[in-house]
Amino acid sequence: MIIYLNGEFVPEERAVVSVFDHGLLYGDGVFEGIRAYHGRVFKLGDHLDRLYDGARAIALEIPVAKEEMQEIVLETLRRNDLRDAYIRLVVTRGVGDLGLDPRKCPKAFVFCIAASITLYPEELYEKGLSVITVATRRNIPTACIPRVKSLNYLNNIYAKIEAARSGAPEAIMLNQEGYVAEATGDNIFLVKKGALITPALHVGLLEGITRNTVMDLARERNIQVEEKVFTLYDVYTADEVFLTGTAAEIIPTVQVDGRLIGDGQPGPMTRELRTAFHELTKVDGPLIYQEKAECGCC
Ligand code: PMP
Repeated sequence: MIIYLNGEFVPEERAVVSVFDHGLLYGDGVFEGIRAYHGRVFKLGDHLDRLYDGARAIALEIPVAKEEMQEIVLETLRRNDLRDAYIRLVVTRGVGDLGLDPRKCPKAFVFCIAASITLYPEELYEKGLSVITVATRRNIPTACIPRVKSLNYLNNIYAKIEAARSGAPEAIMLNQEGYVAEATGDNIFLVKKGALITPALHVGLLEGITRNTVMDLARERNIQVEEKVFTLYDVYTADEVFLTGTAAEIIPTVQVDGRLIGDGQPGPMTRELRTAFHELTKVDGPLIYQEKAECGCC
């Protein structure tokens, strides 16, 4: 595997980070999880926008222009001969001293990993997930802004540990007031009486790229979309529930805290949006191998 590491492409064995990097010492940095499908990088522009906005929010200067960053992602895929992949793009605060002052870190550190994707078993999509709500609350926006996809994932990891101890593959996290926020690595959607409902951003959650894509797809189909504040009551009584994320895509959720959702089967709107999502992955995003895909003669 070839990794992009701060200005060069190196073999995996040489892709190492300093023990003085504040990404490691303090979780100080931002990252993206991105997918490539059929030789295109899905929603790459949106992922880069979120990365740069997050960096701005934490006052981290990314030493690479956005256009160059796009090329870094594409070139990492080319060097690994990948057309379908999971991409991890990371910008850390860089090397500093042992104190937490970011001003002691003169330059941010950038790396990009492109790996062949391990998909969730198809069975999970056919049968749907059973998830639980956990006691760990989602970070409050006034303390650690959930909209920044920062390297500090402890909040989500606590929730994941709780879920795993109960044998659940995912956890629903509530905000401090008890309103539904999101899952540990996915956003949540409900379907009720034909409308698509998802928690509003101010509840405290990551503005998922898949979340936005699903809302766009729904609006194109004249489905009513509502971003609002709701409780577990709305989840338990929904007609359909699904989670969205770059890795999971759109995954039906058929049981929450032991209650069956609807008839306990993945619902029709979930299936429709999933099909539409897959169609979009064929045409969205910059091509990785320009010359091959643009050739119309063969
Ligand atoms: N919420 C959290 C906490 C996440 O880590 C992710 C994965 N990035 C998501 C939601 C889904 O976001 P996206 O659709 O951009 O992958």
